[in-house]
Amino acid sequence: MEVISMAGWDLKKGELRFIPVCDDQLWARFNFVFSEASAKRNSYKFGLIKSILDNLLNCTIVNDQFVLFYHDIFAKFTENYWNLVLKYHLRQMRPDGKSQYSKIEYILLQAQADFQIPEQIPFDSLDDALKETIIKQVQRECKKYVIGALYSDLEGIVYGFDLKQDYLVLHPAAYPFLMKYKMELERLNYYAWAKFLETVNDDAMLVRLLDKLELALPQRKNLDIYRQVLYQEFEEQYCFYCGKKLTGASHVDHFIPWSFVKEDKLWNFVMSCPSCNSKKSNKLPTQTFVEKLEARNDHAVLISDFSRKQFESYRQGLISHLWQYAHDAGFREVLADICVK
Ligand SMILES: [Zn+2]
Repeated sequence: MEVISMAGWDLKKGELRFIPVCDDQLWARFNFVFSEASAKRNSYKFGLIKSILDNLLNCTIVNDQFVLFYHDIFAKFTENYWNLVLKYHLRQMRPDGKSQYSKIEYILLQAQADFQIPEQIPFDSLDDALKETIIKQVQRECKKYVIGALYSDLEGIVYGFDLKQDYLVLHPAAYPFLMKYKMELERLNYYAWAKFLETVNDDAMLVRLLDKLELALPQRKNLDIYRQVLYQEFEEQYCFYCGKKLTGASHVDHFIPWSFVKEDKLWNFVMSCPSCNSKKSNKLPTQTFVEKLEARNDHAVLISDFSRKQFESYRQGLISHLWQYAHDAGFREVLADICVK
């Protein structure tokens, strides 16, 4: 039987190393995780990196530190694996003498059997209470085995943790690094994850493997609730870009493109007319609009619990920062004459 010893998997606590850290050191740690030198019985380290990257917009500041809540991380983790395991039937572990499936695969397969959930039902369509139950089980398992293992590979310069708390704490150097290289990290993570899956799956399952990984999460969601809030609380009855009164069709627009943020946040939404929306598409608006949106957000009067919750992850200057990160990641600016009256 093959024995893989995974350093750190049983850690209960991992201190952040408060040393000056440069991008090269952070790259070295991630490249180590992506390499075969980093022990992996299953694909969870890749799953965790993906969920951290997809949660960067949910970072909040607690005691002057960037933190990510386990619940947010493992909600995405669960949804991702739900698709990979139940929809695409991709094995996440090489069966060994002890078990056929990894723990997470067992949890998901068991939930599907116990609650008689038909195949191809997206995770998001499950009843909220059921989703919570499954996320909790996944979270419990991952807190036991995955948080410590990845921490150990990353040597405490990306995140620190204490399993008694509800969150991970990011290293001060890690947050800007993760934002800046989000897309590159995501691609390298997919590549290493795909290579790993090729070693544990039959050829027939591997067709369009990268598509399956990329499509598993996240997906664009229905934005009606944001439309309502923008209209009622933010009184956005005019196109954010051209200023035309919105009478007929209107669009809820991701100001910083969705394909960069992969997350729906009220502070990143504006109302737009169909024409501006289609011209802007997947591009970045010009600086004038960055200032306009920051002014709106900085002075927003948050009326509903929904808006307040959405703004927990907002802070002054965030839109400018995200704009720069997306720009550096290769997103192009919309032509200046597209969004003028
Ligand atoms: Zn317009």
